[in-house]
Amino acid sequence: MYPYLIFHSFNKNPYSDNFYDLRIEDFISLIDFLSLRINPRKITLTFDDGFKSIIPAVEYSLKKGYKTLAYIISDYIDKDGFLSKQDIKYLHSIGCKIGSHSKSHRDLSKVSKEILKIELIESKKVLENIIGEKVNHFSFPYGAHNKFSLKKAKNIYKFNALSRPNFFNEENIIGRISINSLNCNKHNNILIILTKKTPYKYLIRLFLSYFLKTFLPNPFYIFLKNLITKNKSKDIFNAN
Ligand SMILES: [Zn+2]
Repeated sequence: MYPYLIFHSFNKNPYSDNFYDLRIEDFISLIDFLSLRINPRKITLTFDDGFKSIIPAVEYSLKKGYKTLAYIISDYIDKDGFLSKQDIKYLHSIGCKIGSHSKSHRDLSKVSKEILKIELIESKKVLENIIGEKVNHFSFPYGAHNKFSLKKAKNIYKFNALSRPNFFNEENIIGRISINSLNCNKHNNILIILTKKTPYKYLIRLFLSYFLKTFLPNPFYIFLKNLITKNKSKDIFNAN
């Protein structure tokens, strides 16, 4: 099974993060490239946060034969720049799976048991009401989780997605590769990550960013991240 890919928004969607927002042309050229080299039916393209601008990207992906899955933050439905209830129904009707990306996009490694429960369950209910079907997929905001939140999510959702490859092949865990404005046009690199089980350069980068995030004081981490990514990445949902 290939890892899933994560996308966020397109064409400078209002309220989106510049680092993750892609030009739709760049998205199309990436998935055209991949579909010539890997069977698109084996790849799932996931879209986090429920931005309005994913609609044409999902339509194009389905036409190309990819599986698609949109993770929605239930509190943001119908807000400016985000999908409406009708949009979600439409995406579901054309074959896009709908998953939850929590109720309010908080960091679920840092919340109380009670809030964790609300974030996991309320969003599921809202989305199930809209699509009239069970919602089995969840993705952690920021990919942030701990043992406890992962265990709780597994009790509620059949499939739980993280923002890293699935190292340990745990049951019910979906590993994902994040596509951003810096790596989107590096088609060959993305192909290697998708086709090789553990591309070591990618793992080193992932480990380094985890290490810096954990041990550097936050202002230094953000400064370094902005320097490396050349793009101002911002927390649009104000998690903390
Ligand atoms: Zn998110």
